[in-house]
Amino acid sequence: KTPSIKHDNVIGHYLDLYAGYVAEGEYRKNGSSGGFGTWIAVQLLEKGFIDGIVHVKACDDSDGILFKYCVSNTVEEILGRSKSRYYPVELSGSLNEILLEDKKYAITGTPSVIMEVRLLALKNKDIDKRIKYAIGLVTGHHKSAKYSDALAWEQGIKPGDLIKIDYRKKVDGKLSSEYNTEFTGYIDGEIKTFTSQSGKSFVGDWGHGFFKSKVSDFTDDTFNETADVVLGDAWLPQYREDSRGTNIIIVRNPEIAEIIKDGLSKNALHLDNLDAQTICRSQSGLIHHTRDELPYRLHKKDKANLWRPKKRFEASSELPLIRKYVQNIREKISTKSHTKFKEAVERDDWSYFERSMKLYVIQYRIAYTLIRIRSKTPADIIKFIRKKLLS
Ligand SMILES: Cc1cc2nc3c(=O)[nH]c(=O)nc-3n(C[C@H](O)[C@H](O)[C@H](O)COP(=O)(O)OP(=O)(O)OC[C@H]3O[C@@H](n4cnc5c(N)ncnc54)[C@H](O)[C@@H]3O)c2cc1C
Repeated sequence: KTPSIKHDNVIGHYLDLYAGYVAEGEYRKNGSSGGFGTWIAVQLLEKGFIDGIVHVKACDDSDGILFKYCVSNTVEEILGRSKSRYYPVELSGSLNEILLEDKKYAITGTPSVIMEVRLLALKNKDIDKRIKYAIGLVTGHHKSAKYSDALAWEQGIKPGDLIKIDYRKKVDGKLSSEYNTEFTGYIDGEIKTFTSQSGKSFVGDWGHGFFKSKVSDFTDDTFNETADVVLGDAWLPQYREDSRGTNIIIVRNPEIAEIIKDGLSKNALHLDNLDAQTICRSQSGLIHHTRDELPYRLHKKDKANLWRPKKRFEASSELPLIRKYVQNIREKISTKSHTKFKEAVERDDWSYFERSMKLYVIQYRIAYTLIRIRSKTPADIIKFIRKKLLS
């Protein structure tokens, strides 16, 4: 056990908690959030802790797969593979590649991937020897590949014609959460590029929960608990104002803690120390989803006599009625989005997808608005209604 390591029921183990960004170089500009994910990978390589990193690259292969896990062995390769990819990525090819040589690696991943690698390392000594550091990402949704197809189709690029997608392009003067998504693809035989504002697109509104895979609804690992360092977005008012993006950082590994302290002493990083409560506040929606509301989703599976994974929480039907309703409608949205999209593709008709999903989305919005109103004081409610009427 690492001396002086602390434990929080939600965050898991931690040495240090921060919010901030990389102040040197182009890391922040080129990263999805504060750029720390790429910075720490470069530091580990340059300081000789690793020989390479297993992470995710954009592809333009003819197989139509837009992103894949890959192994980067140089600083240039690492720098060219920053940014969040909201896309399913498969790991076996990269694991086989790192088994070829006796070298040390870091890996980036969602909580389920990092946990799987940890379990594999318990069984496979070579994997254990190779993978020295896990850089975990906080992960709200695991999207299917159809999420990207649908985002692009909404902009006019048909499924199969999307060549490139950048999910998060920062926009000067906007909130960090108001990023754009950029698509490049074929329209009538010509290559065109479009951008859409994430929250404004029908598919891109994460609240709607389109194209989620089931793992998103059955994980209880909010903060990638088995990773050496964890990165997310600082979704807090004091950081959201800055369109350039700010990370939350949970440090569990003493070597990474030292690298960060060295970076701070050289002004390469700009970080604020946070307490556990503030880290949790930055991900309050995700905490509700992975902890408070999970027992109800487990209960639903049990009641329907369906298989579900064993979790640290017991199944329970105890949830306020309106929250149960939101869970039910969210499940419908994510399940129906897969089938209705398939039907829309068969009909070659995007509007069929929007029409089929709209009713569920309206039900979700009404229920969610009721929840928000219930949590407000009368003065807040008047302010809220006035804002809605004026907008
Ligand atoms: C699917 C997904 C869902 C997320 N959900 C949330 C959320 O709900 N809340 C939140 O606060 N943060 C979430 N994040 C994390 C957030 O989007 C940023 O990735 C994180 O803050 C790091 O930003 P950065 O600028 O420091 O990293 P960057 O400097 O941009 O580097 C990101 C690193 O992660 C690698 N990477 C990108 N996509 C993947 C992937 N799918 N699997 C494995 N490695 C990848 C890249 O190759 C790169 O090495 C999510 C990320 C992903 C990939």
